Amino acid sequence: MRETDLTVIAPAGDLLVEVRCDDGNDGFSYRVDAELLRQSSPYFRALLGSGFSEGARVIAEHGKLNKKYGDDFITEATADELPRVCISNIGKISKVNTIKNITADFLRAVHGLDLAVPSPPIQNIANLAIVADRFDALPSFSKFVRRKKYLQTLDAKTKPKPSSNMSEERVRQRLLIGILLDHPPWVTKYSKQLIMNDSVQWKPQAKDEESSALWWDIPRGVEDEMIYRRECVLETISSLQSHFLKLYTSGERQCKLGYDTSVQCDSFQLGEMVRFFIRLGTLRLQGTIYDVEQPPHYSGDIDRLLESLRQCPSYQLDKNHSHCGLRARLIPLLDLIQNQLGLDSRNVDVGLCAECWSNHRAQYAWSEAKRPLLWTRTRLLSRTIPSIAPREKTGRRPSQSSCLAGHVVVRDMFTAVERDWTAKDAY
Ligand SMILES: [Zn+2]
Ligand SMILES: [Zn+2]
Repeated sequence: MRETDLTVIAPAGDLLVEVRCDDGNDGFSYRVDAELLRQSSPYFRALLGSGFSEGARVIAEHGKLNKKYGDDFITEATADELPRVCISNIGKISKVNTIKNITADFLRAVHGLDLAVPSPPIQNIANLAIVADRFDALPSFSKFVRRKKYLQTLDAKTKPKPSSNMSEERVRQRLLIGILLDHPPWVTKYSKQLIMNDSVQWKPQAKDEESSALWWDIPRGVEDEMIYRRECVLETISSLQSHFLKLYTSGERQCKLGYDTSVQCDSFQLGEMVRFFIRLGTLRLQGTIYDVEQPPHYSGDIDRLLESLRQCPSYQLDKNHSHCGLRARLIPLLDLIQNQLGLDSRNVDVGLCAECWSNHRAQYAWSEAKRPLLWTRTRLLSRTIPSIAPREKTGRRPSQSSCLAGHVVVRDMFTAVERDWTAKDAY
């Protein structure tokens, strides 16, 4: 190792850490304080402990230097004489020109020192969080980030831009940071954004080379949960459309006027409804005689989908039938769904609640929940807090339990096998 490749993190450090790139060509050395590494990372505590051969060797080499130079050996010895440990694989970070700087910044954070730039961009923080995760140093790294207020600085910078203009990669980096560094507001906000907007990762095409960074496959079960939640939300909206098509094709009288023209009114409304959905692209008529092609799922923005459904015109057969048809009945139900989805509302039920995800995932996750067989509107309208299962009661703060119970009421609507949209829809 040439002397120029050495980066001094701690001038009085007693250890050299050498990091090699995965391809084995490039290597970088850092002078660090072994004790600080041990304190902030169980990985290094194990590696440098006496129970591990590396650790035993470091202790022995320190002993030799001590003999040679006395108690002041750290200042007397040259960097080359210090014990050296090698590490490889710094985690699934994004493609960078060199791992030299990011490793240096990680080690600076471990030492509580300022990073190379005063307010690092989001990608650097995300990459550093990945490195910290790899070396089991997340608690101390998130404390460091909190102390430096990096996330608040980033939030302040993005204020003028609405987050919907943010690229998916940025959204994912923020979500990953929220999860790894325990910043719940970002977990909720950015998981919800992915669920609502869809992800290039969830399309059937193969993943490309660039997308190997950890944020393209969010860990701790979050990626799969988001995919599942999006499917549930789409299925719910789809069931609303099916509900009205079924009603008007059932032959059961929908027109409430009781005129001679009521039969024509229902046929007219069914025709207009079908035309409207087909024009939106949310319905296609498919023959069952010989047709095997499955249409792909809706892959756009869920907000936009709901907005287009709201454009449903109020058709009427003649001037008497002024409140017949889809619009008057559809809008209140769209309101009901949209109340659970609005990005601006304080509702955290569709995006992931970080606390419930970490503390009671088995009870909280949509993907692990037993789907209710039938959901009726009254359950959401009353939105009472169901009593908590007995084993949940013990040792939990009431606020946490009611947080979970609140999510469950909403989850039941989106995950139900069947939904009864009719109750009270006459108003
Ligand atoms: Zn009518
Ligand atoms: Zn919660």
